Amino acid sequence: MAVQRTFSIIKPDATKRNLTGKIIAKFEDAGLRVVASKRIHMTREQAEGFYAVHKERPFFGELVDFMISEPVVVQVLEGEDAIAKNREVMGATNPADAADGTIRKEFALSIGENSVHGSDAPETAAEEIAYFFSDDEIVG
Ligand code: ADP
Ligand code: MG
Repeated sequence: MAVQRTFSIIKPDATKRNLTGKIIAKFEDAGLRVVASKRIHMTREQAEGFYAVHKERPFFGELVDFMISEPVVVQVLEGEDAIAKNREVMGATNPADAADGTIRKEFALSIGENSVHGSDAPETAAEEIAYFFSDDEIVG
C-alpha cells in the first residue's frame, strides 16, 4: 500500500474538553504523521459546504450548528494506507459501536458529537484537503 494523505478534523466536543493532544497522540502512535495543522473557528458557510453531501439528512442542521459551536483543528495526516488507518483509529461513527482503544470509543460523547472527522476515500480526501489547505501549508 502506498503512502497516502487524508484529512482530519478534531471536532468541537474534543477541542472544548482539551483533548487535542491526546487525539493527535493516537494518530502518531498509529504511524500517521501530521503534515499540516491549523486551529480555526468554522463559519456556517464553510461547515455547510464541507458537509454538503449530508444536506438532505435529518441531522444536517444539528451537525452544522455543532461544527461551528467551538473551534476545530483541521489537519492533513500522511502515512502508509492513511485513509483506512485513520478510519480504524477513529472507530465507528457511533461510539456505542466503536472498538476498544479507538478515539471515538474513548472520547466521543454521542453519534453526533463524536470527536473526529476522517476522509472516507482517496477522492474525498483530496477534495477535503483542498477545501481547507493550500499546497504551501502542507509540509511533508
Ligand atoms: P463518519 O464521520 O463516521 O464518516 P458520516 O459521514 O455518516 O460518519 O456522518 C458525518 C457526521 O455526521 C458524523 O461523524 C456525525 O458527527 C454526524 N452524524 C452521523 N449520523 C448522525 C445521526 N444519526 N445523528 C446525529 N449526527 C449524526
Ligand atoms: Mg463521513
